[in-house]
Amino acid sequence: MAWILRLVEAGADGEGQCTDVMKIVRPDDLGEIGNLGLTLTEAKLLLAAVQQEVVAAQARDHAVRRPDCRSCGAACQVKDYRQHGIATLFGQVTVRLPRFRCAACGAIEAGHSWPSHGRSTPELDQLQAHLSALMTYRVARDVLEQMLPVDAGKSHETLRRHTLQLGAQLQDRPVDKPATPAATISISVDSTFVRSCEDGERHLEVRVGNVETEAGGRQVFGAVARSDTDLVALIGRKLDAVGRTEATTLTGFTDGCPGLRSILASAGVITPPILDWFHIAMRLQHLEQIAGGLSTDDPVRMEAKTVIVAEVDRLRWRLWNGKAKDAQISIERIREVMHAFQSEPAGRRSGVPSRKLWTALHALNGYLLGQSDWTVNYAARHHAGLRVGTAITEGTANFLVNRRMSKSQQMRWTRRGADLLLQVRCAVYNGTLGSSFGQRFQAANDSHPLLAIAA
Ligand SMILES: [Zn+2]
Repeated sequence: MAWILRLVEAGADGEGQCTDVMKIVRPDDLGEIGNLGLTLTEAKLLLAAVQQEVVAAQARDHAVRRPDCRSCGAACQVKDYRQHGIATLFGQVTVRLPRFRCAACGAIEAGHSWPSHGRSTPELDQLQAHLSALMTYRVARDVLEQMLPVDAGKSHETLRRHTLQLGAQLQDRPVDKPATPAATISISVDSTFVRSCEDGERHLEVRVGNVETEAGGRQVFGAVARSDTDLVALIGRKLDAVGRTEATTLTGFTDGCPGLRSILASAGVITPPILDWFHIAMRLQHLEQIAGGLSTDDPVRMEAKTVIVAEVDRLRWRLWNGKAKDAQISIERIREVMHAFQSEPAGRRSGVPSRKLWTALHALNGYLLGQSDWTVNYAARHHAGLRVGTAITEGTANFLVNRRMSKSQQMRWTRRGADLLLQVRCAVYNGTLGSSFGQRFQAANDSHPLLAIAA
């Protein structure tokens, strides 16, 4: 079977003008399921062909317009023509557009407001940036090329350049303040590292966080330390974006790093920040896993393991109920029975469990000694309906950074590259990039946040 795809222009002047765009030939035999409908290759050709026709018609229409001079208001005349090569989502197009000169005052008029060095449509730039925020530049390029007739700007370097440009532009966008002010806002900051490719530095410190209102409004943010992004100013913008007013109660959560505490203080979080339960829970989970792996090859060890597992559980209870000072009791009880595991055989891959338990216990003890002033009664907060930490259950740092920027150990980043990509990544999740797909969070207070996310 064969079809001719024909575009018929509708509208005042060109009414009824027809253009044959493409001939589609498909087998009429449906013996093979692969014969059903259009193929991806045909769909890409079709989109590209329609794009060429639409652009050509738009250019014809535009070329006969004669703008008025912006300086004196007199009529303009055509000065010359310029070719514009523009990459679009549906292929590269070339547009020939006139430039104008005012007949009265001689001023030059472009007749359009395109960016002077623009070589691509904003929609293409945005989709490139969006995909690049979620996957590597090379994979993003491959996905675009697979799905769409994109035939310009195909190098992953171009994708990177466009994405970082957009990241830089995001910082100058005005904040959309929500209509409803927020009574309380929880703000958490956390830090992580990505590998650096800059001279003399192995790692770049990345600070990330999120602000949340009681109504479910949420924004994530991030900045690479000592980059052009001012984290304190960024936090201020995010607080405004979820409805901070002078009457808003701010509660801060950190991973315990003193540097982050002072950043929160500079951003206007006056009350001392709370140690995020997420970070305690992660350490306890690690401890539980190791305790569960202890060997039980004799009755003494079996009994000791029972004591340890129970005591780790009690430790969780103590910390959850704000009794961090009593953590020592649990740690001491575990130490008392650990001699049962002397000369414990090593696991096939995992090493000696009791030695790992010893190390983990020592690390937790040090952590709690340093952080106990910042722990609270998490159980009481939870029962009162208050936050005990970030609502991103895997941790903001892992959610924002590790998935894209450090899972693959080969990835090395420049300070600027990591920082600007992070701006795009945050914008994707916040729904502020401009495209709506990929959005995870409500930008502001919403009466039906869950419904909106499900839709
Ligand atoms: Zn003029």
